[in-house]
Amino acid sequence: MNAAEGITSLIFFGPPGVGKGTQAKLLAGELGVPHISTGDMLRAAAARGSELGKKAKQIMDSGHLVPDDVMVGIVREALASPEARRGFILDGYPRTLPQAKALVAMFDELDISLYRVVQFEVDDEELVRRLSNRLVCAKDGTIFNAQTDELTLRSPCPDCGGNLIQRDDDREATVRERLKVYKQTTEPVIHFFEQLGVVVSVDAGESVDMVSREIRLMLREDL
Ligand code: AMP
Repeated sequence: MNAAEGITSLIFFGPPGVGKGTQAKLLAGELGVPHISTGDMLRAAAARGSELGKKAKQIMDSGHLVPDDVMVGIVREALASPEARRGFILDGYPRTLPQAKALVAMFDELDISLYRVVQFEVDDEELVRRLSNRLVCAKDGTIFNAQTDELTLRSPCPDCGGNLIQRDDDREATVRERLKVYKQTTEPVIHFFEQLGVVVSVDAGESVDMVSREIRLMLREDL
């Protein structure tokens, strides 16, 4: 790791819709480290129609969590890859306490001692607003907000002209279930990392630019 860059082994933690994916894409590009999004990996498996993908798609569309052993295997492989040697941004993992414990064990194996959990905080109403307005480019995965970016499902992607879609699990009933699962199962995992002294928190209610600036500043000052 280059100290001038700040800490480059990062876990983005927070509820669905909080902006983790948007920020992870930006910062990973800047730092030249992989953006490891477990949700994106599962959606890619579903699009390929693999056995794992088909099973995962059913679970994702119900708003529930894919089993821990499957997720631990996926993340172990991603972290052990040569691309992740200079750092990484994990987005959407861990979501349960066993996943968190498995992650810390992997860090030990891989000799990763300097890492941070960036906790994204925003109120629930804003989350529902963001999720119901979320549009994703089917071609390159860029995330937009229908309201603030003034786009509809019929608009071409402003970046690459691809089709914009709504994720199946961003429909209202699934969103409610995902937020429930987050509160019950995922949110408490932050206490595990707090005890390890590796958590930094960011106010994710601000604009994309402001949040991005805050994260970069925090990671540099935290060294
Ligand atoms: P995301 O794109 O991070 O919101 O993830 C979409 C869906 O993929 C989640 O609602 C889960 O069904 C599944 N998923 C992604 N990451 C995990 C994980 N770490 N553990 C269990 N399920 C996951």
